[in-house]
Amino acid sequence: MKAVVFHEHGGVDKLRYEDVADAPGPGAHEVKIRVRGCGVNHLDIWVREGMRGLDIPMPHILGSEVTGEIVEAGKSALGFKVGQRVMVTPGISCRRCRHCLSGNDSQCEEFQIVGFQTQGGYAEFITVSATNVLPISDAWSLEEWAAVPLVFLTAWHMLLKRGGLRPGEDVLIHAAGSGIGSAAVQIAKLCGARVITTVGSREKIEKAKKLGADDVINYREQDFSEAVKKLTGGKGVELVFEHIGQETWEKSLRSLAKGGRMAICGVTGGPTGTVDIPFLFLRQLSIHGSYMGGRNELLDVIRLIEQGKLRPVVDTIFPLKDAAPAQKKMAERKFFGKLVLRP
Ligand code: ZN
Repeated sequence: MKAVVFHEHGGVDKLRYEDVADAPGPGAHEVKIRVRGCGVNHLDIWVREGMRGLDIPMPHILGSEVTGEIVEAGKSALGFKVGQRVMVTPGISCRRCRHCLSGNDSQCEEFQIVGFQTQGGYAEFITVSATNVLPISDAWSLEEWAAVPLVFLTAWHMLLKRGGLRPGEDVLIHAAGSGIGSAAVQIAKLCGARVITTVGSREKIEKAKKLGADDVINYREQDFSEAVKKLTGGKGVELVFEHIGQETWEKSLRSLAKGGRMAICGVTGGPTGTVDIPFLFLRQLSIHGSYMGGRNELLDVIRLIEQGKLRPVVDTIFPLKDAAPAQKKMAERKFFGKLVLRP
């Protein structure tokens, strides 16, 4: 089959579109899927570049947000049939520990992400465990559905389970134009929060408002922390949705109201940050680390996407062979929503 692989860590030039061995199996409990859409994520870039202690199969196929049609189902993959439209749930876990059994799959000691620690969806076919597959309707195209799993699940878990967002609260969501930001703006709005978001260009302001943002700050023209204080009458927001890291960390903390919470899931703007400890305890702030989410939460997301209450936001669909330009576009932040590959 055709796939985009890299044989060693490095820049986008390491991504090669080539013939590789066909996806295996499927085994009794697995299904083999013809990939129709695969979302591109910052995670893909980090894995391609390499991280300390990273141990992944090589040559490696990226891709954590996969949709397609089943071409073969193992004999114990009950309830699945050939031709069925499905989404791959990106989290792999043991399904028997207390974390898994309480819906906190991503806290499982054995937790892995499809396309990260395993081979992913930058390919014509993928074989995964039947427990990692959910049926999806034709309410959206398979490319559009590929803009859902990782970002909506991560945003959902972070806002609701980790961040404890409640109706009526003020929430600051960084980068409405990013995949995860475009999901978070919609979820927070649906939950009845007042959504303040940031964008890096004027063209993105209207798009952010269309998604449901109440107030949009252009962070290149305004200090977002000061703008947040102004918009909230000096109070600050109850929750900050952080995924930038170093670049925004300190000002994000400064944007919090007393008793406020900050949830963080990513470091696209750098990995380190300092905390003014007295500021933290005197204002009774809390910081919540968040990492993807549980399968049960993805079921909630899928239902709302089916109903049209949340919607996939696709910026561009690239042919699979153009995975390198797609990742380059992502790194340059020149998009709004998701970039999706189509084999
Ligand atoms: Zn587990």
